[in-house]
Amino acid sequence: MTKLTRRNVNTLIGTLIAGGIAPNSAYTRNYGSGGTRLAMTNIRMLIGQEMSGPGAILIENGTISAVLNETDNTAAALQNAQIVDYQGRYLIPAFTSNHAHVGLIKGTTGGRHNFTPENAYAALRQFQAYGIGTVVSLGMTPTPEPKTREHMRNNPQYGASFMTAGAGIFAPDGLSPRPQIPEEARQVVRQMAQQPIDIIKLWIDTFGPIQPMSEDCFRAAIDEAHQLGFAVAAHVYTLDHAKKLVAAGADILAHGVRDVEIDQEFIDALREKGTWYIPTVHMDEATYIFADQPSLLENPFLQSALSPELKDQFSSAEWREKTATSERAQKARQDVEMNLRNLSKLIEAGGVKFGFGADAGAFPERIPGFAEHRELEHLVNAGLPPVQAIGVATEQAAALLKLTDRGKIAEGQRADLIVLDANPLDDITNTRKIHAVWQQGELVSLGTP
Ligand SMILES: [Zn+2]
Repeated sequence: MTKLTRRNVNTLIGTLIAGGIAPNSAYTRNYGSGGTRLAMTNIRMLIGQEMSGPGAILIENGTISAVLNETDNTAAALQNAQIVDYQGRYLIPAFTSNHAHVGLIKGTTGGRHNFTPENAYAALRQFQAYGIGTVVSLGMTPTPEPKTREHMRNNPQYGASFMTAGAGIFAPDGLSPRPQIPEEARQVVRQMAQQPIDIIKLWIDTFGPIQPMSEDCFRAAIDEAHQLGFAVAAHVYTLDHAKKLVAAGADILAHGVRDVEIDQEFIDALREKGTWYIPTVHMDEATYIFADQPSLLENPFLQSALSPELKDQFSSAEWREKTATSERAQKARQDVEMNLRNLSKLIEAGGVKFGFGADAGAFPERIPGFAEHRELEHLVNAGLPPVQAIGVATEQAAALLKLTDRGKIAEGQRADLIVLDANPLDDITNTRKIHAVWQQGELVSLGTP
């Protein structure tokens, strides 16, 4: 992975423009004096449901200002632009993760205490290098200082654009007490809304001895959030809770249903209410996959995402044996199976809105970047054609957040883009053949991470 600071990004762009990147020698040429106009030429673009023939894209001030196909008068349109000739490669919009956690992991440990600006920037850069341009930290996240937050939100040099649910409401870390009456639930939501957050995250059930929240309390919490203009993403595990949350108007189910097979009543309710469903299949798989498949460690795409501590852990035969045979892994295998079965059912039913995310960064083994590409593979294996899986991770994931400025290759969109060496519509794992990542018109990472 090429980790970038502002200084070496400028150097990199200089190198790129000068055509110095091996093995693509005749890489660039310059139409004019350069400046803030940048054009990618000879590139196939994912537009709507199709990959276009080689065309060009013009980027000005971080935004796509023109999309040109083969028949357009490209030379005239690209006057005075710096040109990057992508030699027939493939361009897709950067991904958005609707469900991740930022800055909580250090080595093999996880938790709020790990959150520092440096750790958060490192996580956001890792997401970004894997092509995830926007990341929602869906709870358990401390509120950064205003300056740090501004860097994290909207500055490509600091990594993916950061959005947050803050600590979240009634998080499993026990930081906030469970409300006993609806007015208490409203009050907690009002307090949370004072924080610089983008979305409300709600846990109604948790792990351990805490009683689930009563229905009248979570109805009040959701209603209060809506009155204050926030969408509500709810943690969910059981079908029973999922149905009650959908009926109560929760906007987003932040996980797939994993206790039992879903039924028609639930499918109808999701469609009728337009509730978003984020399957997060890889989340449970991450519990055991590195123990079950040691050969994954040979995979460079994973390797560059691992800290030395995690690499050591995954390399330990003792750890693998203990993990693979653990009760937790056994449970996770069942959860993945049920999650996939339910996902297939929803895909087959049609008309359900899917969000995208893998709950990366909540635990050390949920590895930012790797997790999202693996999640794409699950979406495809569950029945979505690759073009639709990418649509979920781009346009739909942005729509879930009501972000209209990203998720598509079109005029006026943010130039958050991934250049791929192979066509992801032929094989979804081609999303891992990353040639370059651009964010807001800046080259932020070069080569497969
Ligand atoms: Zn989560």
